[in-house]
Amino acid sequence: MVDDPAAQRALWRVREDAAGTATRMADGSEAWPGWEDCAVPPARLGAYLRDFRALLAGHGLRGTPYGHFGDGCIHVRIDFDLLSEDGVRRFRRFSEEAAALVVAHGGSLSGEHGDGLARSELLSKMYGDELVGLFRQFKDVWDPAGGMNPGVLARPARLDENLRFSVLPRERVDVAFGYPHDGPGGGDFSAAVRRCVGVAKCRVAGPSSGPGVMCPSFRATGEEQHSTRGRARLLHEMLAGEVVTDGWRSAEVRDALDLCLSCKGCRSDCPVGVDMATYKAEFLYHHYRGRRRPAAHYAMGRLPVWLRAAAQFSYVVPVLNAAARVPLLAGPAKRLAGIAPERTIPRLAPETFGRWLRRRMKGRAEVFDHGRTVILWPDTFTEHLAPSVGQAAVRVLEAAGVGIVVPPGERGGQRGRGGRVCCGLTYVSTGQLDQARTVMRRTLDRLEPLLDLELPVLVLEPSCAATLTTDLPELLRGDPRAARLAASVRTFAQALEECAPEWEPPRLDRPVAGQTHCHQHAVLGDAADRRLRERAGLTGELSGGCCGLAGNFGFERGHYEVSVACAEDQLLPSVRAAGPEAEVLADGFSCRTQLDQLGGHRARHVAEVLAEALGESPADGPGAAR
Ligand code: SF4
Ligand code: SF4
Repeated sequence: MVDDPAAQRALWRVREDAAGTATRMADGSEAWPGWEDCAVPPARLGAYLRDFRALLAGHGLRGTPYGHFGDGCIHVRIDFDLLSEDGVRRFRRFSEEAAALVVAHGGSLSGEHGDGLARSELLSKMYGDELVGLFRQFKDVWDPAGGMNPGVLARPARLDENLRFSVLPRERVDVAFGYPHDGPGGGDFSAAVRRCVGVAKCRVAGPSSGPGVMCPSFRATGEEQHSTRGRARLLHEMLAGEVVTDGWRSAEVRDALDLCLSCKGCRSDCPVGVDMATYKAEFLYHHYRGRRRPAAHYAMGRLPVWLRAAAQFSYVVPVLNAAARVPLLAGPAKRLAGIAPERTIPRLAPETFGRWLRRRMKGRAEVFDHGRTVILWPDTFTEHLAPSVGQAAVRVLEAAGVGIVVPPGERGGQRGRGGRVCCGLTYVSTGQLDQARTVMRRTLDRLEPLLDLELPVLVLEPSCAATLTTDLPELLRGDPRAARLAASVRTFAQALEECAPEWEPPRLDRPVAGQTHCHQHAVLGDAADRRLRERAGLTGELSGGCCGLAGNFGFERGHYEVSVACAEDQLLPSVRAAGPEAEVLADGFSCRTQLDQLGGHRARHVAEVLAEALGESPADGPGAAR
């Protein structure tokens, strides 16, 4: 018996995702429907399966049968090569022989689904020509013009004449990301796009429940074009060039991708790992290459640059914060920056996290105990907008006896020489991939000496952690340092577990509500967070789904309504339903901002909650910034 809810969820997922998962062989190669859903009398199933396997082997094909064996109904995805003429010929020969085999075992070509284009041509093997002729005559009585369902059942189309992939380009498309698992040797964008097998797990209407994320924009709009599948289909059409004829410049594809939140939910929740956030970044890169971009791309895509510039002159920060609260000034500024008028511009911190940390660490030597030390990543959001998160993390790490190393230049003295480290998230999400690669390369140059120490890299902001884990190695696939940094990334809970496994967090003994960051769900997982919360006596579940802000998405003009609808799917109702004693947790800056701006809820990073319970440390005394 499995009574652990997480293990139960995992088992159910095996069942729910089977139809999609089966489209990949164990070695990652592609497999397709094509010989699906036949049924034989259950008593003949064993003999049929033995013959069927022999038939597969005879054609040099592989496939794993699954289905409703008690009813004799079998599904199977087979590694047909549907891209080459030889492969399609083999698909045809195999289908004809498989049909004869099913009939020889007294079975039916379709068990529980329809015959459709794939099976119609073979029906005369089962019913005989005379009966199929009668089907034709009967249909003609009701449909003399032959307008209804042409090519299916009566006067069938050839089973190999409408194959979806025949229109895809044969040569590889030039792309920026690595797509390591798509196509032989990776890098095949067509293979990435044709991952979608259409099982529509991304088209589940809201409200959602449970930890899943995919697909918030479909739940918000209910429209196919705003689902993962709809977008995958449009990208397919873009590559095919029949209906969408202007390729990467297509306005239709851009509009369908516009409401994709880049939440990465599909990357983990789609059974075949359609990764629309990556495809969107790829599309935006090509779409706007050499052209003027929307204002939001300059304003929010280059956020780290603007925030660093403002922080250079700390006396400017209060002025900017005050101006952002004066409607007469903020209105035009938001219009200029492509920001939704309903949004409030977040406050800049009067003192950056880095400055606070330098003061705190002044005079202390960076000695570290291997196994109990982390590199603390100074992400843009913690640095400029939420330094309290970084300060809290430092206090907790110190209490747990974990040493901290900061990247070169973050302790002062080296500013201006090569710039600061940055994951490139805002450039990636707006498709500014050349800039993203420049920022990432510079980061690796700066970090290289520390990478040699093989320390975990603690990233407090989940979206930055996800970018370093996924986008960095995919955009800089030729640079081994990228893979090393990606493998070193840890969340706060993971770092504590790894570096201070014996440390007992303070007991908080209260319920929680709030948001598991969508990127954390999709890329990093929340198992360590759950364990940390349990040890601290924080009970209950955080919301799945996406908060709807998703970095720049919810701030962009035209996205406000969908952003709110996403927050109303799961997050806001769950926080409203939580009692006043509940601690509202959200490790992502976006999620905290969304909760604040849409509901006035004060959410905190788990580090802040733990640090508060620990109380002041000696280093927090007079002179320490808070
Ligand atoms: S994108 Fe949607 S329809 Fe396509 S395989 Fe994934 S869950 Fe299924
Ligand atoms: S990234 Fe998120 S919003 Fe975009 S298609 Fe995937 S699940 Fe939907």
